[in-house]
Parts: sequence; structure tokens; C-alpha cells
Amino acid sequence: MSVHQIATKALHSGYNPAENQTAMAVPIFQTSSYVFENTNEAAALFELKKPGYIYTRLNNPTNDVLEKRLTAIHNAVGSVVTASGTSAIVTALLSILKQGDGIVSSSSLYGGTYNLFNVTFRRFGINTLFVDASDPKNFTTAINEKTKLIFIESLGNPKLDILDIEAIATIAHQHDIPLIVDNTIASPALLNPIDFGADIVIYSLTKYISGNGTSLGGAIIDAGKFNWANGKFPEFSEPSDAYHQMVFWDVFKNASFITKVRTEGLRDLGSALSPFNAFQIIQGLETLELRMKKHCDNALQLAKWLSERPEVKWVNYPGLDQYPYADLVQKYLPYGQSGIVTFGLKAGYEGAKKVADNTKLFKLLANVGDSKSLIIHPASTTHQQLTQEQQQSTGVTSDLIRLSIGLEHIDDLIHDLTQAFQLI
Ligand SMILES: *Cc1c(COP(=O)(O)O)cnc(C)c1O
Repeated sequence: MSVHQIATKALHSGYNPAENQTAMAVPIFQTSSYVFENTNEAAALFELKKPGYIYTRLNNPTNDVLEKRLTAIHNAVGSVVTASGTSAIVTALLSILKQGDGIVSSSSLYGGTYNLFNVTFRRFGINTLFVDASDPKNFTTAINEKTKLIFIESLGNPKLDILDIEAIATIAHQHDIPLIVDNTIASPALLNPIDFGADIVIYSLTKYISGNGTSLGGAIIDAGKFNWANGKFPEFSEPSDAYHQMVFWDVFKNASFITKVRTEGLRDLGSALSPFNAFQIIQGLETLELRMKKHCDNALQLAKWLSERPEVKWVNYPGLDQYPYADLVQKYLPYGQSGIVTFGLKAGYEGAKKVADNTKLFKLLANVGDSKSLIIHPASTTHQQLTQEQQQSTGVTSDLIRLSIGLEHIDDLIHDLTQAFQLI
């Protein structure tokens, strides 16, 4: 099924009222553990010989529904939900990497991911090479014998560069390594990276998928197409010390990765999603497609309005005619370009701070993808820890203001920015 049918899947997949005391809404299974029939059954569960529930760090019936919906929406083989987008990245990557391994990543990344790769992973001997993704050949140049995966964001935050997923997937596969795509900003309502060759898709569910700004969450989605037995990934193709010498690839085949994420990743790193948050995120997912249409529509109108304002020096939004990569917009985001707009003022850094301090509807906070409109000045906040050079490569200039356009009436949003502009 194509992306067009996600509206239906988001409402129904992975849940059957008849199996849940006829409850139409997905219940919150607020339990830490599950009663075993007897010790033999428990043994079979622990050895992964029988599917079932053991402990909510590993799986939970509410979380299951969210996972099954995300799997159905992406036409994937399986999903695991986690406590945050960040823990999704950590759990997915540490299920593949070990000391000495390398990552090749696009440089225009969410600030938290940049720091994770650039500082924390290096402490554990996992080295990341950051490349300018505007030319996919840069990935080929950076890959060496230690590289175990490519990581990108489909729509970079806050640079709003659309990456050529298909070209980068081809490069990854030529080198027998998987492509991991953080699709948070585009959301599955606008783009399914698996259609273009991505092997693993990551989300911060905190953003558009939840949409209401109440709950942190993350997701790891496995396309089930990567050959983990190609010789580069012995953790998948050789006996596992963690499971009585079981060989993941022999037992779980194309679901090996996502099974390892749950049985070793969630078990050992402990980044389980609370079932209460899963419930909240399920409510958000139900209306994702509808909301994304309005986010896209509002953002395009606001970007056009900004381009005509005398106070504004530049505007970046992939839906604008002046956006430099029109062919990539057509290929990857034809139905809409999401709700993030960035712009710079002629009044520079100080002007940007003044506007961010004086909007009333646009709330000053560090989040995106909320139903309410948000504003931030990354150079003084989210990207403040980066050096000038790093700020440039991640696309954060000192004058940049990032707007996350919500679902308010467009006239009210324009009115709010107009009054803030009058103060500079
Ligand atoms: C917010 C965000 C993350 C991190 O997600 P959390 O849920 O905040 O941990 C990762 N990637 C992108 C693109 C994000 O916007």
C-alpha cells in the first residue's frame, strides 16, 4: 500500500477490539510484568522459543499496537518503540556498532544527535565522519573498512536540506552497510524512506506523530531488506553469547535486526517507552495525516508572506520557488514539505533574539512538530554548544530563526510576527 493509505492504517492497524474486551480505544496496559502459566512456559519465553510478554522493558500490549501501526504504515518487517527519539538512535546504533566501528553521517543533524555522535560515541571508540550531503559522492569518499552504517536525516533540522535517499542507499548497499534515516521532520505522512531503499527508519515520536507536546517517545522501524549475514556483522551471523549461542540470522532471518533491538537493545539499555506515553502517541498518530496537511499548508503560506517582508533577509522552506533543490522536493516530498520554516532578519543576531523574545502566539521553546506554533533562535539555544564552524556545517547561522508552524489560523500567525517585527 502506498503512503496515501496511511490515514486508514493509523486508525486501525495492529488492534482488534474483540481481543480486548471489545474496547474500541486501545487500552493502557499499565503493568510492569506478566503472569507465566508455569516454569516451562517462562523458560520458552526467555529463550525466545515462544512469543509473549515477560516484562514491560521488553514489550507491552499498548506499545505493541503502536509498533504494529508504525510497521504497517511503513510496509516494514517490525518496529520497536523507545522512551525518546534519542534513545531510539542510541538503541538502534548500539545494536549494530562496537568499539572501533565507524559511522558516516550527514552533517546537517538535529543538535542532540550531532553531540551524541561527535562527543559521547567517540568516548566509546565509535567514530563518526560528518559529510556534506548535498553531493552523495561525499559519502563514498568518507566510507572506509571500519564504516558499519550511514546515518542521515531525510529533511535536515534546521537546515531543511532534502537528502537524496535513493542515491545514498545505493552507496550504502554497494559497501554492504545499512542506511539509517531519521524521518522525524518529514513524518510518515509525507515520506516513507523505505520506498527509496532505507534499511532502518528512526523517529522522535515526540514531534509530529504525537503532535500534542505531551509525551516523549521514539521508534525504530526495520525494513527487513538488509542482508546482515554478508560477513560484516558477526553479531548477527555468528553465535550470540547473550542467547545460548543462538545465531540471530539463522532464527530470525530478515527480522534479525529488529529482534536484536528488542531482545538485546531494550533488555540491556533499558530505553522502554512507558505504556501511558504509547497511549498518548497512539492518539496523535490517529490524526497525523490530517494534521500534516494543515502544517504544510500553513508553513507554505507563512514562508511566502515572510519572503515579501522588508525586515527579512532570507527565507528557507522547501515549498518555496526559490528553494534550490526542486527536483528533490518533487521526488521525496511532493505532497507537502512539513511545518518548519527558517529565516534570517536584516537585523541579524540581535534582531533574531528580539523577535524570539516578543512573539505571543509563537512560544519560545526547544521542540518542533507541536500543534501549537513554536519559535527558537538556535544559535543562542539548541546549537549553542557547537563551535562557529560546526554551526555553519549544521546550517545554523547566527541570524537564523526557526519556526515550527502549528495548526492555528494563518491570519493570527501573521499578525503575531508582524507585531514582533515592529519592535526591531
Ligand atoms: C527531537 C529530535 C530527535 C530527538 O528526539 P527526542 O524525542 O527529543 O529524544 C532526533 N531527531 C530529530 C530530527 C529531532 O527533531
